[in-house]
Amino acid sequence: MDSRYLKGLTGEVVTPKDPFYNEARQEWNRAINKFPLVIVYCERKRDVVNAIRWARKRNVSIRIRSGGHHYEGYSTGDCVLVIDISRLNELKLNKKRNLLKMGAGAKNTDVYDLIGSNGYVFPGGTCPTVGVSGFTLGGGWGYSSRLYGLGCDSLLELELVDYKGKLIKANKSRNSDLFWACRGAGGGNFGLVVSMKFQLPKPANSSVTLVSFFYVGTTSEKQAQVMNIWQNWLKELDKRMTLVASFYNAEGEGLGIFARGFFYGSPEKAREILEPFSVVEGFRLELEESSFLEAVKKVEATYPPYEKFKSTGRFVQRSYSLDELETIAELVQNPAEGSDYAAVSFYAMGGEITEVGKRDTAFFYRDARYIMGIQSVWSDDAFAMENREWVRERFAYIKRITEGSFVNFPISHLKNYEREYFGDNAPRLNRVNEKYDPFNVFKFPQGLK
Ligand SMILES: Cc1cc2nc3c(=O)[nH]c(=O)nc-3n(C[C@H](O)[C@H](O)[C@H](O)COP(=O)(O)OP(=O)(O)OC[C@H]3O[C@@H](n4cnc5c(N)ncnc54)[C@H](O)[C@@H]3O)c2cc1C
Repeated sequence: MDSRYLKGLTGEVVTPKDPFYNEARQEWNRAINKFPLVIVYCERKRDVVNAIRWARKRNVSIRIRSGGHHYEGYSTGDCVLVIDISRLNELKLNKKRNLLKMGAGAKNTDVYDLIGSNGYVFPGGTCPTVGVSGFTLGGGWGYSSRLYGLGCDSLLELELVDYKGKLIKANKSRNSDLFWACRGAGGGNFGLVVSMKFQLPKPANSSVTLVSFFYVGTTSEKQAQVMNIWQNWLKELDKRMTLVASFYNAEGEGLGIFARGFFYGSPEKAREILEPFSVVEGFRLELEESSFLEAVKKVEATYPPYEKFKSTGRFVQRSYSLDELETIAELVQNPAEGSDYAAVSFYAMGGEITEVGKRDTAFFYRDARYIMGIQSVWSDDAFAMENREWVRERFAYIKRITEGSFVNFPISHLKNYEREYFGDNAPRLNRVNEKYDPFNVFKFPQGLK
């Protein structure tokens, strides 16, 4: 590529002839294999502005990348300009007002380190390397969500570079329509968010109980039984507890059930709350009380540096019959060839999430009881197709019994994706998109139209 072609781009510019290109083009999901034209690592907001202007002048499609964890890899693409903001990650904590100002490239782990070591908690995600802006723009579910709400519920303000390269501030009183839209539907759509300001929950001296439970000798029947306990238990659950329960089939281990999450209270109380699960034989419970930061670090340590996977998630609005639960458990009985891990997972919702109205932010499915995820993980590329197909086939059943998809757990096979991700908020989102990105400069396979 002629260097004159790249004139106007600032920051670190990586092209296919660069030795670093092969690493730079990777997403966390290593099953995504795209070849961008140029990747630019922005060091300052000005680099973002220059990148957007450059792409428009050259008629090159833009993809925005923060932490690179999009399930389907929509933060990259073939022959596109990837604007990578991972280096715009400065953090500023205002202890007087309990505020966190963050460069939009910061990752969960960066935020947890700073706020945790200052005695705060943060309603972020579970994986250390997920970008906080990507997470928040899609709503953001985590182990603190039932007590502190979704990630986007703590957002006070953001700065976004629009299609003209102009810096726009959005909060409750300025560009409030954009602010509304960015709390649940902002990822990749209206412009590039370069900073965010969060209101932190007041420093809590209380500790966190890290909850883990599993079953020894699981069978498909037990998986369905535990699912049944889960759906009844969740209705009255203390909002200080947020768990995700996975019903899985792992290579070398077979069927299993594993649940994990936080309880903002004592281990004794957690044990009492989890009592209903002990009626199924083989129940084992582990409770570890520690500071918020220590609990987060233990969770972070369970994540691999990357994976090859296909995964997605849908909102559950109702109770299922035993027959249905057996069918759900049945989904993981025969994993795809080459699968390392196949699972159906339930992410608890409710609590503070429902205290915000369905129309108050772009995150529509506030009243869901939990998110039902499905995933398959593999190592050998030779089995990628089988594993993808495995998820796709089972997704067809899950889609029939659920209502709406979680945009942070997306899937490419959604016909009416605007409606599926944003429900009745979709028409208003289209209007906001038309106002802030009238020429659809920020487009990707499931972008707002
Ligand atoms: C291992 C793993 C664990 C996860 N755990 C959780 C979880 O606990 N809870 C949860 O809610 N989600 C979770 N997710 C999903 C994750 O939150 C979403 O994929 C999120 O969009 C990732 O953000 P990112 O910045 O890392 O990814 P990216 O791929 O960089 O971005 C994701 C999308 O958002 C857009 N985007 C990112 N940053 C900006 C920005 N600053 N301005 C405008 N658009 C932007 C991108 O263009 C892309 O469309 C997990 C994902 C993985 C792979």
